[in-house]
Amino acid sequence: MDFEKFILPHIWNLKPYSSARDEFKGNEGVFLDANENPFGSSTPTAWNRYPDPLQLEIKSKIAQLKNCQVEQLFLGNGSDEAIDLIIRMTCLSGVHNLIICPPTYGMYEVSANINHISTRQVPLTKQFELNVDGILQAIDESTRLIFICSPNNPTGNKLNRADIYQVLESFNTGFVIIDEAYIDFSDEPSFIHELDKYPQLIVLQTLSKAYGLASLRLGMAIAHPTVISLLNKVKPPYNISGATQEQVRLALSNQDFVKNSIEEISIQKNSLILNLNEIKEVEEIFPSHANFILVKFKASKRLFDYLIEHKVITRNRSNVTLCEGCIRITIGKKEENEQLISQIKAFYQNTNV
Ligand SMILES: *Cc1c(COP(=O)(O)O)cnc(C)c1O
Repeated sequence: MDFEKFILPHIWNLKPYSSARDEFKGNEGVFLDANENPFGSSTPTAWNRYPDPLQLEIKSKIAQLKNCQVEQLFLGNGSDEAIDLIIRMTCLSGVHNLIICPPTYGMYEVSANINHISTRQVPLTKQFELNVDGILQAIDESTRLIFICSPNNPTGNKLNRADIYQVLESFNTGFVIIDEAYIDFSDEPSFIHELDKYPQLIVLQTLSKAYGLASLRLGMAIAHPTVISLLNKVKPPYNISGATQEQVRLALSNQDFVKNSIEEISIQKNSLILNLNEIKEVEEIFPSHANFILVKFKASKRLFDYLIEHKVITRNRSNVTLCEGCIRITIGKKEENEQLISQIKAFYQNTNV
């Protein structure tokens, strides 16, 4: 694939910053090259040395786990960093555009706005599936990116696979980004396995959800090695802190936690759905392959406010395209979900809807 055609020339030709850790990679010696503090840190743990800028130790573990090559892996300070860098290396303000399919994750649009890149919105269908014809019509010679999220946030469904293939087959003058933040909760195979066939594909995953590491901030882009080397040129040199690399190293060897969380969340999701189904003011519960469900309620705005007053915090999605009357509910622990259900019941008992 001729990536040079859709990477901005100043990025393609960029001479990246070369850090002290890039220029000398050994572990032994007297280190007087990076202006670090030789006495250690003001914390019990020593963080005085700059971390590995390419995070090779954790990348080799992640590559094993995801069945890909280290050269296909980029790690970001959350997936959000990858989203921003992908936009910055492909799109010029006033020239290029990108396509998003609302209702979907809000950061694609915000990141485009921050970079002053115009977005073309092709809403999902009423069944929350891709409008493939609409996407193909929206593409022009200045389209550089198409963002697809599956399982999708906030709707929770996985998108029809054949539709995604059709987009991949029809568009190769820019990148197709498939955000798989919720793939661990789904029975759907990852599109990582399609990277060899579609070099213009970038898959995003994260440790924020199933791994329970939202606060550490570790997202990843899995893509063609050329794309990864470009992301590495553009990223801040030490974008993943030493503390994060250390904690992630530990996390990756505790797959039991991930497996158990996924199982328990699935059990709790089914039970929450059963309980919601018994409430007659619940108008629709949308199918979910994620760790949340989107639910349409009568008097949803008043319900949402009532829940907050009673210390149950959900996400009001009523103002989002196609989601009128909907609240997004993250699956909590058994007791938390029970508290939610009893507050919903209390609200409808005391309210005329
Ligand atoms: C939660 C989420 C992410 C994860 O973002 P991080 O920056 O890695 O925490 C990415 N995409 C979607 C659709 C999400 O819902």
